[in-house]
Parts: sequence; structure tokens; C-alpha cells
Amino acid sequence: MPRITRLSRSVAGKVVIITGAGSGMGRATAWLFADEGAKVAVTDLKGQQEVADTINGAGGTANAWQLDVSSQQDVERVFAEVAARFGGIDILINNAGISAPAAIDSEGYESTWARAVDVLLTAHTRTVRAALPWLRKSSSPRIVNIASTEGLGATKGISPYTAAKHGVIGLSRSLAVELGAEGITVNTICPGPIDTAMTARIPPEQRAKYAHRRVPLNRYADPEEVAQITLSICLPAASFLTGATIPVDGGLTIRNA
Ligand code: NAD
Repeated sequence: MPRITRLSRSVAGKVVIITGAGSGMGRATAWLFADEGAKVAVTDLKGQQEVADTINGAGGTANAWQLDVSSQQDVERVFAEVAARFGGIDILINNAGISAPAAIDSEGYESTWARAVDVLLTAHTRTVRAALPWLRKSSSPRIVNIASTEGLGATKGISPYTAAKHGVIGLSRSLAVELGAEGITVNTICPGPIDTAMTARIPPEQRAKYAHRRVPLNRYADPEEVAQITLSICLPAASFLTGATIPVDGGLTIRNA
């Protein structure tokens, strides 16, 4: 049947650049965009080549770049290479992340704080600035920042992480306002507990207890469950969604008791 509606629900042919795509949610996001026909720039400190090989082996289109988001030079060079290789950049997904546990009075707090803010927050400004010239040429430019439910609330003893993730939400809202007139959307995803390398060190009994007590869906999520929401807000059809903060948390943040 001929289409009755106007907006596309496909990212086929779009160029997406994903940071921290060598593992966890970034990898799941790279696989999903590739499945949907996007050209995927898989960037990470490590693991990126295997992810690109898997995509290309399955008949998709991907290329790997080693990229440290804390390096201004790396970001500028890699983004220019991605645009040259794939003919532009349509979608930027700021996903790279580290955990940053540190009690406020612990030794080394200042360096943990500096690293967390650099990798989790300042890096987003680097990548946005580097992608902007190409996003401006895209017919449906999208920026998605991966924050956390730690951007909405707080857990004891990880204040560098929590503060940086709160900052990501503020940055996203600010850029949504600043770039809105150009049709560039900027949204934030706040994952809850997800089964990735970042949470792998938590003992299974502790994870199960936490999920049962705090998460209405009673479990950790598979990384693909976050990737699916990220993809949805990058569709050309998601053209009027900007400045939004979207929890993908199994209901964690709305639970009272
Ligand atoms: P992960 O450890 O599996 O993946 C993170 C990736 O980021 C790794 O591949 C790592 O190499 C990369 N990375 C770290 N520092 C980098 C740097 N300087 N430059 C480039 N890449 C770098 O963890 P994940 O859970 O998939 O994390 C993805 C994002 O989701 C992070 O921003 C994290 O804070 C956030 N998050 C995770 C959870 C969770 O429960 N796992 C919950 C909420 C938010």
C-alpha cells in the first residue's frame, strides 16, 4: 500500500558515530543501527575492531576508529575521518563512560572527579563541536547523550559520577535550546541497571536483591533494550522530540515503595 504518512521510521543510509562502542550499550547500539541499515562509525579505546568486523561480517557497513574522548585532537581527527569515509555525520551518540567511585573525603578524590567530568561530560562538548558542521548538513540531525538514573537521583559514594551525569542532562537541555532552530535534536537517555562490563563486578546476589527491591521489572536490562530506545529517538520520525530526558530503567525512578 502507498504510504499515507510523511515521516520515515528508518535510519537506513544514515551515518551514526557512537563513542564507547567497543562494549556494553555502545556495542549493542552499533549492532542495532547496522541491522537497520545505517553506516556505523564504531569508536572506542578498545574492542571497536571486533564490533566493526561483526557488523561487516553480517553484511552491514561499519568502520572502527580508536578514539579517546578525553583527547580533543583525537576527536577532531576521527570525526573528520568518519565524515570523509561515510560522506557526513547524521547522528552522534555520546555513550563512552567510566565508573567513578570516590567518597568525598577519600584520597585521590580530586583526580577521580577530574577524570569523571572529563570523560563523562566535557567529552560531549568536544564531540558535539566536532560533529556540528556535518550535523548542520543532515536532513535529520540527532544527538543522543547517554546519562544515567544517577543524573536524576543519587547513590552514596559516587559523587563524581553523579555530578557528571546530572551535568549531561543540563548540557543536553542547553544544546537542545541552542540548536533547536537548526532542527538538530538533543535528547538524553537515562539507563537504569544494565547488564554490561560496568556492572559485571557487582556480585549476582547483590544485583538480584537490588533489582527485586528497586526495579518494578525486577531485573537488570540487556544492553539492547536501551539501544532500541536510542534508535527510536534518532529516527527521522522523532523530529519534534528535543530536550527530553528519557529514563530506560525498568521503572526504577518512579517507584516509591
Ligand atoms: P561498558 O564499560 O560496557 O562500556 C563503556 C565503554 O566506554 C567501554 O568500551 C570503554 O572502553 C569506553 N570508554 C571508557 N573511557 C573512554 C574514553 N576515554 N574514550 C572512549 N571510550 C571510552 O559500560 P556501559 O554500561 O555500556 O556504559 C555505557 C554508558 O552507559 C556509560 O556512559 C555509562 O556511564 C552509562 N550507564 C551505564 C549503566 C549500567 O548499568 N551499565 C547505567 C546507567 C548509565
